[in-house]
Amino acid sequence: MNIKAKELSKIYGNGENKVIALDKADMEIQSGDFISIMGPSGSGKSTLLHLLSGLDHPTSGNLTYDGKDIYRMSDKELSAFRRQRIGFIFQQFNLLPVLTAQENIAMPMLLDGRQLDQKYLEELAKLLGISERLTHLPHELSGGQQQRVAIARALIAKPDIIFADEPTGNLDSKSGGEVMEMLESIRTKLGKTLVIITHDSRIARKADRQFMIMDGLVTEMR
Ligand code: ADP
Repeated sequence: MNIKAKELSKIYGNGENKVIALDKADMEIQSGDFISIMGPSGSGKSTLLHLLSGLDHPTSGNLTYDGKDIYRMSDKELSAFRRQRIGFIFQQFNLLPVLTAQENIAMPMLLDGRQLDQKYLEELAKLLGISERLTHLPHELSGGQQQRVAIARALIAKPDIIFADEPTGNLDSKSGGEVMEMLESIRTKLGKTLVIITHDSRIARKADRQFMIMDGLVTEMR
């Protein structure tokens, strides 16, 4: 899978309130890439991630997945595309509090009307070290465990690419380190492409391609 962003821009407001959150970003992502995006608060990291993953629409520019311009799809097509091809991990885990870990993980399949592959769910749980926690509710889990459940949820539909928005931002350094190890092993063992936003230069350096964003301008570090 090849993802190409061309002059992707996002502008909020107008006149005196105009904010150029993303300024003509060009980026190409190949299958198996591990990409980190660093930048200060307010520099446009989340905006870039939301645009690359089809969660938001750009003001101008285009984005293709294997040559297909995803912003030309209807909203319905785009959300189906996202559910099937893209996994997303958030800083705040975003688990549903009334569902068990297992039910949270299965949720994307349910939403897409697809049959749950229970064996795959169990494999993921084992890989992520949460097999013993599947019947627990989120509040019965530590932050690190909740994020691992969220990683399993991001993977259950077998997407090609995982986008992670500060996945360790809400965790202490020990659980953050464990979550990063899991993400790296998912990439090597399951062959997923990984794009991760981080404030932490130690995490950014683990990636094989590092991008920096300042005032909406994206550059690749070499
Ligand atoms: P980061 O993730 O690096 O903290 P963001 O992508 O969230 O940065 O934001 C980039 C810039 O765009 C900031 O100046 C922010 O205030 C602005 N911004 C983000 N979302 C909105 C919005 N919905 N309306 C107006 N301005 C926004």
